[in-house]
Amino acid sequence: MADSDKTLFQKIADGEIPADLVYQDDRAIAFRDIHPQAPTHVLVVPRQPIPRADAIEPEDEAVIGHLFTVARTVAEAEGLSDYRLVVNNGEGAGQTVFHLHVHLLGGRDFQWPPG
Ligand code: C5P
Repeated sequence: MADSDKTLFQKIADGEIPADLVYQDDRAIAFRDIHPQAPTHVLVVPRQPIPRADAIEPEDEAVIGHLFTVARTVAEAEGLSDYRLVVNNGEGAGQTVFHLHVHLLGGRDFQWPPG
């Protein structure tokens, strides 16, 4: 794939852009958000560049499920028992990077409903 065709998060996954990685395997990476919204704010990202939640196909179900077990692994490593997992789908929902990612937020109290 031409470098310019890669998403920002693919470039991070490929080591072309630095990030504070906390987990990686053959299907997913996790790294600290550069603008943390909580004491722990980690993005869990599939290496596969699915652009957004409403582009998930049935054949992606295994990797999507894997994101949640990675989130659990990272949360446990961070010492978190209560935390929030967020996926923004589309600009109107706050999505700015169009490579699917799960926000793992923890270390503070949260309000419901979210803003
Ligand atoms: O859900 P949304 O698409 O807005 O989330 C993208 C996240 O990626 C933001 O929280 C932003 O701070 C983070 N980001 C990052 N490193 C970058 C660019 C964006 O952690 N180089």
